[in-house]
Amino acid sequence: MKINRISKAIFRCVLLVSIMAASGVAHSALRIFACEPEWAALAEEIGGDRVKVFTATTPFQDAHHIEARPSLIAKVRRADMLICTGAELEVGWLPLLLRQSGNDAIQIGQPGYFLAAEVVDRLEVPERLDRSEGDIHAAGNPHVHLDPRRLLLIAQAFTERLTLVDPDNADWYRARTEDFGRRWQQAIHRWQAGSSQLQGESVVVYHTAFSYLLDWLGIKAVADLEPKPGLPPTTAHLAKVLATVKSSQPRAILVASFQDDKAAAWLADRSGLPVIRLPFTVGGDPAAKDLFGLFEITLSLLQGLQSSSRMHPAVPVGLSDSPRAVASPIRPVNSAQLHLRPQKTTGDLVSPFSSGRSGV
Ligand SMILES: [Zn+2]
Repeated sequence: MKINRISKAIFRCVLLVSIMAASGVAHSALRIFACEPEWAALAEEIGGDRVKVFTATTPFQDAHHIEARPSLIAKVRRADMLICTGAELEVGWLPLLLRQSGNDAIQIGQPGYFLAAEVVDRLEVPERLDRSEGDIHAAGNPHVHLDPRRLLLIAQAFTERLTLVDPDNADWYRARTEDFGRRWQQAIHRWQAGSSQLQGESVVVYHTAFSYLLDWLGIKAVADLEPKPGLPPTTAHLAKVLATVKSSQPRAILVASFQDDKAAAWLADRSGLPVIRLPFTVGGDPAAKDLFGLFEITLSLLQGLQSSSRMHPAVPVGLSDSPRAVASPIRPVNSAQLHLRPQKTTGDLVSPFSSGRSGV
């Protein structure tokens, strides 16, 4: 009987250790430094509880312009791996963080240094670069995450890199990537089917933040509130944009979660175009809780293009900045205000892009 009790105790012990190993409790999590929220979300999708992710920026910060704070240096110093956009997006702050960190594992050329934009084709690579023009996209457009097809390629490349940095968990990472890839591809089919009517629509953008998204959906950007990527709108440039809007009749002005409203409101006021605020990244809208949610709410918001009228003929067009007698009714919209055109039924939001289950 005693032997029986001992063998039962041993069995329980073995079982407990197996459960701990399976749940990852027995491993110390790999510390990943993500420059932007979309890469933090991807690292969590792939790494699950085997990784501990720190995000350097919020959805409401412009990742082009971040201060290399001591708190960020401390995080880089302790990281086992880094995932950032690259293509010069973080050129103003990441090199300084790397230098100051003294951490060999995440320096350029090491497996722990991973740049997403380097593993996919980039749009808008300048044929001739004149930095005096102030273009901050010297290596092409870095905002690659808003094309879900590119994002899948990045997920696969990132996983291979993870397996080099943390070979003990290679099977875990590969299995999770396979599962993510299956769900992601199903989602892409669903998103494409639900947004085919957006093809051929046109919009005004504010910075080329959405080029990959628009390219994927077949939506044309007829004008940009910025004269060059990274240069603030000027009165002279906005006058040209307004003329383009009159001739091209786009549907809306798109702004990102981290951008101010001023220039968009100026144009909205004079053109009657609605302003649609898109989340841009995970957390940029309450509904964009993960990568799936980011695309679902983005596509739902873009449905507003279909219902918005072309340029308002009743709105007087002028370049005067004098106060208007009547305030513009145009306000930026987000998911809280413009969710979906279909009427609410039970109070829940209905989206042609949502499967009804988060993350699927
Ligand atoms: Zn940019």
